[in-house]
Amino acid sequence: MSDCLFCGVIDGKIKANVVYQNERIVAFKDIGPKAPVHILIIPRKHLVSVLDIEADDSALIGGFRVVVNSGADAGQSVFHLHYHLLGGRQMGWPPG
Ligand code: 5GP
Ligand code: ZN
Repeated sequence: MSDCLFCGVIDGKIKANVVYQNERIVAFKDIGPKAPVHILIIPRKHLVSVLDIEADDSALIGGFRVVVNSGADAGQSVFHLHYHLLGGRQMGWPPG
């Protein structure tokens, strides 16, 4: 999608500190980290949120321990599906 910030990261139009990528996903450092480790993991396929995931996309959602803000009321601010990988500090519960 041309007006999507994270599609811009995937296309290289938006600079990002990429820590890992493969044919399906790109992982890069969050610009405003909320923990010593804060990585965003996004599918190359433009999915707005977890609600867009279909059976064919199952390879995109396996194997991560993550935070996903889904929808504006949950704090989602960029509407290209992404997983927050947070680490390096004691986590509180419940999240705000
Ligand atoms: P959300 O609020 O949608 O769950 O998370 C969006 C995340 O994207 C936020 O944690 C925010 O800091 C991050 N973010 C927003 N713009 C940029 C950007 O241009 N580059 C990077 N690396 N992260 C961004
Ligand atoms: Zn996108």
